[in-house]
Parts: sequence; structure tokens; C-alpha cells
Amino acid sequence: MVIIFPDIDLTGVKGVLLDLDNCLYPYDICHAQALETCISKLTQEFPQISEDKLMEEYDKSRKACHRQLDGTASSHSRLLYFKALLESITGKTQAALSLELEELYWSSYMEQMQLDAKALAFLQKCKNKSIPISLVTDLTEQIQLRKIIKLGITDYIDFVVSSEEAGIEKPAAKIFELALSKLGKKASDVIMIGDNLKKDIKGAEALGVKSYPVTCLESK
Ligand SMILES: [Mg+2]
Repeated sequence: MVIIFPDIDLTGVKGVLLDLDNCLYPYDICHAQALETCISKLTQEFPQISEDKLMEEYDKSRKACHRQLDGTASSHSRLLYFKALLESITGKTQAALSLELEELYWSSYMEQMQLDAKALAFLQKCKNKSIPISLVTDLTEQIQLRKIIKLGITDYIDFVVSSEEAGIEKPAAKIFELALSKLGKKASDVIMIGDNLKKDIKGAEALGVKSYPVTCLESK
């Protein structure tokens, strides 16, 4: 996956709402590496179960979690996915291994994270012009905070608003409104940048926020 961060004219812009995943760095390579590491750990723990079956169980657990928790940060919880996967293959909750797999997933994921050069240049431009930035991002707070530390961008980000904090995911107005209130700005003063047309672009535009799409292309 390759990210194409847009060219943005900051004239008159008083604040920025910014997506994180697939906006400042490409998600796919991180997820692929993280999942492979976890499946490999699971094949060591359960050699009698094939890798294909484990992948299938992961996918099943992920989809069930999405159905149950649709629209909330927990719907992306790797802890819940691995816990459900382990319950399915062993018939009971495996506390220690669930936690171990969650940590293994995120530490492997973060090893692969690479800040997009154009996104960094944009963050620097905002900093130079004293334009404040709030992330508006769908996932749990702890993971998103770890990601911005790993990317080395905490100095550029004034606020982080996660769907865990807002209680609901994009495109709901509430998550954008929380970010606007932290920035102390009106919708017409800020812009939104993100890769997801429905969540980022249409969600922000519904509140009257001018939006810029990030394009994600499959790398060859
Ligand atoms: Mg995104």
C-alpha cells in the first residue's frame, strides 16, 4: 500500500482534523507483519491446528467482534479477537495467552510503521504556521497514543481524539465535535484529512468541514 498525501493550501485554515491510520503511514504492511507473527506464535502453541485454520478462526473472531461492537472502538480490539479465537479452539478463556498475543500483535505492528514523508512535511508546515492539529481516529486510546509516539510526531499533534474517548466512531458528528471543541475552533475554520470517504470525508463534510482525501494505492 502506498499513501498519496494531498497538497493542501493552508490559507485561512485555523485548525486541522487529521486521520491517523492509512493517512500518516500505510496500515497494510504493519497489519500483515503483525498477524503473521501472531499466527506463527499460535502454530507453536497449537501444532495440531493448521495455519489456515488459525487464520480462518482469526477472521471469524474479528467479524463476530465487529458485528457485536459495530461503531465502537472495541470493535477493533485485537485483545478481543485473540481472546475469542482462543476460546473457540480451546473451549475456555486463555487470559495470559490472549494478552501475550495482543502485545505481540501491536509490538510487531509498530516495528513496521513508517511515517509518510509528505505527511511529515505537512505536519511541519502546520507547526511553522502555528496551526493546531487534532487527530480524529477510530481505535482505542492506548494504541493510538503508542502509534504517535512510535511515529515520533507527538510534538506536532495538539490533541488526540479516539473513538474510545468519543464513545462512537467516525462518521458520527460527536467525534468531530469533540475534536473541534478541544481545538476551540468552528467547523468552517478547520479542514479534515483522511483516507476513508465515508468516515473521514463525508463525516466531516456533514458538519461543514472542508475535507481532503488521502489516496491509498496498492503497491506493485
Ligand atoms: Mg484512515
